[in-house]
Amino acid sequence: MPSVSIVKCDTYELEKVYHAIHKSLTLINSGDRLVKPGMKVLLKINLLSSSQPPERAVNTHPIIVRALVNIFQNDFGCEVSIGDSSGSVKNSSTFHAFRVTRINEIAEDTGARIVNFDKDEYLDIHNKGYEVVDKFRIAKTLRTADLIVSVPKLKTHGLTQYTGAIKNMLGTIPGNGKKNIHLIAPKPTVFAKALVDIYQMVPPHLIIMDAVVGMEGNGPNAGQPKKVGLILASRDSVALDAVASNIIGFEPMAIPTIRFAHQRGLGNGELDTINIAGESISNVTVPDFQKPSSGAQDFAGKYLPNFLLSLMFDNTCSTFSTVNHSRCTQCYECVRNCPAGAMSRENGKVLVDKKKCIGCFCCDEVCDFEAIQMKRSLLGRTLLGMAKALGVEKVE
Ligand code: SF4
Ligand code: SF4
Repeated sequence: MPSVSIVKCDTYELEKVYHAIHKSLTLINSGDRLVKPGMKVLLKINLLSSSQPPERAVNTHPIIVRALVNIFQNDFGCEVSIGDSSGSVKNSSTFHAFRVTRINEIAEDTGARIVNFDKDEYLDIHNKGYEVVDKFRIAKTLRTADLIVSVPKLKTHGLTQYTGAIKNMLGTIPGNGKKNIHLIAPKPTVFAKALVDIYQMVPPHLIIMDAVVGMEGNGPNAGQPKKVGLILASRDSVALDAVASNIIGFEPMAIPTIRFAHQRGLGNGELDTINIAGESISNVTVPDFQKPSSGAQDFAGKYLPNFLLSLMFDNTCSTFSTVNHSRCTQCYECVRNCPAGAMSRENGKVLVDKKKCIGCFCCDEVCDFEAIQMKRSLLGRTLLGMAKALGVEKVE
């Protein structure tokens, strides 16, 4: 039975975070048993934006990273690297994300090594057990590390509802490669299967989730910071995602990444077969955590079998992008990052071709001015209206 530890941590004070992470590792018995002196430890953090500061809750908080570096370097005598490829395909964005989060300063202070996956050597991965993505490219450091520690941020996500440990491994693919995944998997459930394909080939050994302050609403970039006050740890990403998503009010098996990974035997997403160590879920639930505006499938998930749920997920919850021109600064980062070529400029204005838009949220993820609005289909809006009218689900 997999274990997930839940430890309270109400602030990003280094000492409190350090003790909370230590406790979370002890509770799942993953300190000395898993980590040995001299190991090469890679912290695979969650960097999305290259310009949002830590208090916006978009990226893994730097204090979490600093505490982890201290633990693995000083307590276990390991060699630590910190790596990721941010959400944007712009060449320098991962570099900027390390600077904006001041994680580069942690590296300078401690001697930990920053690995910008966009600039790393790469390896081609072939997945024989794939459902959607048979081959993709990852940063080579992922294969030279002895211990991969995934450090996701607890956030909602407009396309996948929830983003956590399973989805964090998408960032192992350097720059442009992530665009290809969106093109191969344009529908939400297919994209979730693609994420599970990637996770299957690059599973972390240990997961420490930054849930001190999460992001609610229209995550992963345009939502609002929300205090959750927790550190979660596990060796099973699927179990950790099941517990974390449930704390913020989701039914875990209604989250496609969790359901598909569980069905493939890559981990355990059923709450009643997970050993919870530390706080109980009921003790730390955040009942008013706002879901993304694509919350219709939660409502549907109460009544429909899985295959109908997937159909509904794709057909009613698909979105298309629109631009709020009063907020748009005409930086064109969205145009550069649109994998479907659905965005263009005309007389300085950003235009979206609805017919080409695959609703991948890439533009939303890179827009730092909340100028992108993802809109629901008419059927999706109708379903949300029904859910609200019946009062069976709190949806926004
Ligand atoms: S919508 Fe956002 S990312 Fe796109 S040009 Fe405007 S401000 Fe830049
Ligand atoms: S317009 Fe936005 S949501 Fe649509 S395909 Fe392009 S990046 Fe994706």
